[in-house]
Amino acid sequence: MIAVKIEVNGKPVDPEDMETALHMATIQSVREATDSTIGDLRCPVHGQAPMLLCHGDRLDTLEMQVTGCCQQLIDMASEKLQEDDGQEDSPVE
Ligand SMILES: [Zn+2]
Repeated sequence: MIAVKIEVNGKPVDPEDMETALHMATIQSVREATDSTIGDLRCPVHGQAPMLLCHGDRLDTLEMQVTGCCQQLIDMASEKLQEDDGQEDSPVE
């Protein structure tokens, strides 16, 4: 499963945290959809997998975006997610 990183106000948040746990269902569903699309993707330069970054001012207004070791991987992942748009739930911008 694709790794997920959660940041609120620029600070990393522990997914096991009680308040965060309330929002994990939403994050998990996006995570699963993302994983099915780009879970097998690897950076051709670094061999790293992409990550899902959830960030925002508050836990209930998190934006999901794909991140990774370098811009090349992020571009590849974003492109693949866009191609897949409409077939299943993708992160909404
Ligand atoms: Zn890379």
